[in-house]
Amino acid sequence: MAVLDRVDLVIHGGTVVNADGRGEATVAVADGRIVAMLDPELPLPEHDRAIDARGRLVIPGGVDPHCHIGQRLGEYQALDDHRAASTAALWGGTTTVIDFAIPDPGQSPLDAVGERRKLAEISRCDSALHGCVVEWDDTTPGQIATMAGLGVRTIKLFTTYRDRVMAEPDVVLEVMRTLRSVGGIAYVHAEANHVIEDAQGLAAADGAADAGHHPMTRPELAELAAVTEVLATAEHVGAAVYFVHQTIKEAVDLVRAARRRGVRAYTETCPHYLSLDESAYAGTHPERFVCCPPLRAASSVASLRARALVGDVDTLGSDHCCYSTSQKLQHADDVREMPNGLPGVETRLPVGFTELVVRGGMPVERFVAMFATNPARLNGLSTKGVVAVGADADLVVLDPAERRTVTVSGLHMATDYTPYEGAELTGWPTFVVSAGRVVLDGDGFDDPGPVGRALDADPIPEYLLT
Ligand SMILES: [Zn+2]
Repeated sequence: MAVLDRVDLVIHGGTVVNADGRGEATVAVADGRIVAMLDPELPLPEHDRAIDARGRLVIPGGVDPHCHIGQRLGEYQALDDHRAASTAALWGGTTTVIDFAIPDPGQSPLDAVGERRKLAEISRCDSALHGCVVEWDDTTPGQIATMAGLGVRTIKLFTTYRDRVMAEPDVVLEVMRTLRSVGGIAYVHAEANHVIEDAQGLAAADGAADAGHHPMTRPELAELAAVTEVLATAEHVGAAVYFVHQTIKEAVDLVRAARRRGVRAYTETCPHYLSLDESAYAGTHPERFVCCPPLRAASSVASLRARALVGDVDTLGSDHCCYSTSQKLQHADDVREMPNGLPGVETRLPVGFTELVVRGGMPVERFVAMFATNPARLNGLSTKGVVAVGADADLVVLDPAERRTVTVSGLHMATDYTPYEGAELTGWPTFVVSAGRVVLDGDGFDDPGPVGRALDADPIPEYLLT
């Protein structure tokens, strides 16, 4: 092989794990890219910096497909911005975050994309964006095409939150059909609104709409009903569909069955749906666990985890959202008014690694697929999610034997709590390399400044992850 010029960084002695296999290799990095994967027996090329990864794993930097950064929802403004969220992401081994451009009332989807792209200029890591369509009019197909031209090919659709962001079934259908023509995918939050409104109304009539009763206001059947309908719509129009945050095995199984019929349907779940259950709502801070869908019964969590362990879950997204305890407590007695969502961009790796790899025995390769490779592919990010020559030098070095106890004071997300306080977790990055820069090492975080790039999604291939 050709002799390498001096490189910026070498990572040597570690076991490189990709979604499709592992091996010992020296990773050489120059100009933000991986330029060589070398036989570990060879002398190191000349370099500016070396990371000794002996006894450690070297995996692709995480791609978090589901982050709500500084989300505004009615009167509530999430507490982070792109600087804070990307900093926390890097601390947790995620080097690409994908945010949502959810239009404010009266704002067009395209304008929302423009606004979010501007907000992302302060990001410390690379970022991409999902669009969002709520209503359909004559301009919508053109807007979707324009967004695709801008590198935004995934469109979020909500089947719930009437009068805020809910898209009617015919809007879901039209968006899917249009996305098919631009190489895009619909990202669907699937909970049947009529079931939820009914359950919420019944709970409220019983004086039981507080955070402690959150699960009964959003039953599992609501998820099952919406996934069934949305899958049928996707199959009808021949479009791809990605379900965000699936929480029950029945929903995962529907997606798998559709895949076997040739439907391009995909399942995401979140670390909290694999590791926490509804007993959290009986604790002293039920509001801190209010997310939608809610945490499920322990038996449901166990069967979801079992599906993940056999490879039926494609991606792990954080559904990161930074509201504080006091914001959530402004309407403590009514979850319909409470801002929902959990902080999680920083803990996605350790929670997922601990639950799936350490406790569940999942091969690290499969975990890497869920954590980085599949989210990259399903978002048209061809330079992400893999440790290979030509890929962006986004790398995590972690010690699979190191355990740490989680405390909110040891984390960097812009809120006052973590759902994992006191948990002992494995899977913390020792080193994080983002676009070729070492941003985290034994000395802590080295802020790279606002260097994150806005990534453009390529058309997503017709046949993917079959
Ligand atoms: Zn979300």
